[in-house]
Amino acid sequence: MQRETVLELLGVETFYGKIKVLHGITMKVKQGQIATILGSNGAGKTTLLRTISGVVEAEYGQILFKDKRVEKLDPNKIVKSGISHVPQERLIFSELSVEENLKLGAFTQKNSHMTEKVFTYFPALKERLRQFAGTLSGGEQQMLAIGRALMSKPELLLLDEPSLGLSPMLVEEIFTILKQMNKDGLTILLVEQNVNLALDLADYAFVLKNGKIFMSGEPESIRQEDKVRESYLGEGKGKYMKRAKIWGQQ
Ligand code: ATP
Repeated sequence: MQRETVLELLGVETFYGKIKVLHGITMKVKQGQIATILGSNGAGKTTLLRTISGVVEAEYGQILFKDKRVEKLDPNKIVKSGISHVPQERLIFSELSVEENLKLGAFTQKNSHMTEKVFTYFPALKERLRQFAGTLSGGEQQMLAIGRALMSKPELLLLDEPSLGLSPMLVEEIFTILKQMNKDGLTILLVEQNVNLALDLADYAFVLKNGKIFMSGEPESIRQEDKVRESYLGEGKGKYMKRAKIWGQQ
């Protein structure tokens, strides 16, 4: 079955001040896919997600979501168009309850039925509806951040390092839920440091290096490229061997 392109970037360039961080990114994400963006620290992965969700502006290039240009839209309009972003910092409002945090993610009253949908993925949140979000565990906060992003009924979910700071067991739990969301029709673009986990989950991978797409392909082909590991880890041979060990253990 030929999948349709849901997200397309053409020559996207993003700057912080005068410093160019994304250098002409061109990529496609297909409908129903889990695509992952890999790359060493500072490669520009977070900036790429921020650019797609409009948090930072693309100085040049085009971003098409379902064939419509979105690169000049405000972030809230981008959410309304069907793209939701779970940032690395999670941005949970600690002094609001779980329920209030979820409501903040819903753009219209019509979406309130999404709360029930969120609970089917994260039943733990239902038990903690009135609890202050700041008192949740790290794993529960990540669930809340993802749950809140689901409240706007996205077609494309951008996820920045959902495994950060979580135990391996919790990471596995969250990744299993992501897989289920994807089966239910959600397209996912995932930035993840846990390379093996990301390649296990994804249908397609992009390797970012110094703000450029260095390589892309099916996870198996990426996994087999020793050169890719070395390059995107951005390290010399000695260090690489150390990291390769970590890679093997992930
Ligand atoms: P990491 O895995 O460490 O989060 P990353 O691949 O997500 O890295 P980015 O966070 O996108 O990379 O950063 C890309 C480059 O842009 C880095 O050189 C970083 O120092 C720089 N950068 C990121 N955010 C800002 C900012 N707000 N202002 C200025 N420079 C920034």
